[in-house]
Amino acid sequence: MRAVRFHSPGGPEVLVEEEVPMPELRPGEVLVKVAACGVNRIDIWIRNGRYESNLPHILGADIAGEVDSVGVGTKFEIGKSVVVYPALSDGTCRFCLESFPNRCVSGGLVGRASDGGYAEYVRVPAANLVDAGDLDLRIAAAVPVNFATAWNALVERATVRPDDSVLVWGAAGGLGHAAVQVAKMLGAQVIGVAGGEEKRKFVMENGADYFIDHTAEDVAARAKEITGGFGVDLVFDDVGGDTWEQSLASLAKGGTVLSVALTSGASSSVDVGRLYRNELSIVGVFSFRKETLTRVIQLASAGSIKPRIFRELPLGSAREAHEILESRKVEGKMLLIP
Ligand SMILES: [Zn+2]
Repeated sequence: MRAVRFHSPGGPEVLVEEEVPMPELRPGEVLVKVAACGVNRIDIWIRNGRYESNLPHILGADIAGEVDSVGVGTKFEIGKSVVVYPALSDGTCRFCLESFPNRCVSGGLVGRASDGGYAEYVRVPAANLVDAGDLDLRIAAAVPVNFATAWNALVERATVRPDDSVLVWGAAGGLGHAAVQVAKMLGAQVIGVAGGEEKRKFVMENGADYFIDHTAEDVAARAKEITGGFGVDLVFDDVGGDTWEQSLASLAKGGTVLSVALTSGASSSVDVGRLYRNELSIVGVFSFRKETLTRVIQLASAGSIKPRIFRELPLGSAREAHEILESRKVEGKMLLIP
């Protein structure tokens, strides 16, 4: 089969399309014919070696396709449209037994711990398949990592209520645009943060009520101004070290920062005085549960959430896809089509 692999960590140029052996199925596994695979920032970090993987390696955690064949003793309808739940888990640890495989002590990710979806076919555990129903598989591939993570953050780890104010960093990106849609769906007032006029247009069209241009404005001061001096109830922070202090400074009393991803430095200081005096909460969000993915796929099928596809590229253009993502020009989601 055709696949994009890298043989050693490095820049986008290490991604090469080549002929590779078909995966051999073990009991309990399913071979999925990939219809589309989303490109995520974590793919870049695995490719450049920030996160280790086996080599040569096939990236790709956001996978939608059709069941092609099943391993011995494994039951699954051939030809069924599916989305892959990308968290791999042992199924036996305390956290798995509490239905949080995303917290598994020996957890992994499809596309890192195992070969992923930058290929014509991918081998995954049958237990990791979610029914895609009639949902367009290109839309389906844009849902998992972005929308299920946003749902886990805003609905499960925190509970956004109607009229809450929610500030979303990176609001034009894959994860950020999902957070804007989910927060709006829940009736919140949404403030999207990104850089530049083009992104302002995209973020407002995607449903945000306000936009803050972080390249020209003081984010915390503007957030306070928009909320009548109180600050926001929730901050969706998918940037990390560079935005952390501004995230905390943007919060209203009783507010919560959701730490969802890291695209800048991993450490930052916390003003503990501000934390306790204002009864602030800091909440981490890592991946999501399978039930959460099922829920957001249903919402996408119903048209309640609408992933915005920035560009669809053929599999062989994975290098270009990474270059575009690293240039920070992406608005919404980018897909690879085998
Ligand atoms: Zn476990």
